[in-house]
Amino acid sequence: MSSTRSQRGRVIVVSGPSGVGKGTLVRKLLENSDFPLELSVSATTRSPRAGESHGVAYWFLSREEFLQRRERGEFLESFEVYPGGALYGTLKQTVDDAVKQGKWVLLEIDVKGAKSIVEQIPEAITIFIEPPSIEELRKRLEGRATESPEELAKRLAQAQEEIQQAGFYRYRVLNDNLDDAYAKLVDILQNHQDA
Ligand code: 5GP
Repeated sequence: MSSTRSQRGRVIVVSGPSGVGKGTLVRKLLENSDFPLELSVSATTRSPRAGESHGVAYWFLSREEFLQRRERGEFLESFEVYPGGALYGTLKQTVDDAVKQGKWVLLEIDVKGAKSIVEQIPEAITIFIEPPSIEELRKRLEGRATESPEELAKRLAQAQEEIQQAGFYRYRVLNDNLDDAYAKLVDILQNHQDA
């Protein structure tokens, strides 16, 4: 396909448990595919990890600023992804601007956020990335070593809950092998191109 051909804007939601490899898959799509994709940069109150910069990985906000902006109605959706943890939210303006420009805006958000988006934008394309097993997920998270043991336990518990809700998504992609999962994603998006 040619990315220069004008397309209708679309909203694509990608979810999956922490450590499943959605970040890697999304990056690969942005870098290698021909779709007019644009990543929606979310806002969060969590601290940046090594290598994450403001406005690229996230907009890193203080809790106070986040709550003020939420009060002003700037978020399309926002949630405490992990109970008692940081806030994360999709900025309305980011999505609106991208869709107006005919972009396919990609939201990498959790299940609660995905449900909220679908209520507001029923035509959103929803994709859930599944791990081969919880054990495999634990291994990947331990290997990544970006979380404390408590944080890791929280993420695994959350993963189990999220996997149970995978049926909500229009598509599910098993990430057993990166190339296969990527090919499946491309296939899904190809089926959503304008005729
Ligand atoms: P992390 O802290 O590892 O970057 O992200 C943790 C979780 O927050 C991931 O499951 C990610 O999909 C989710 N997340 C990131 N941004 C948003 C957002 O804007 N809204 C919601 N609801 N979840 C988000």
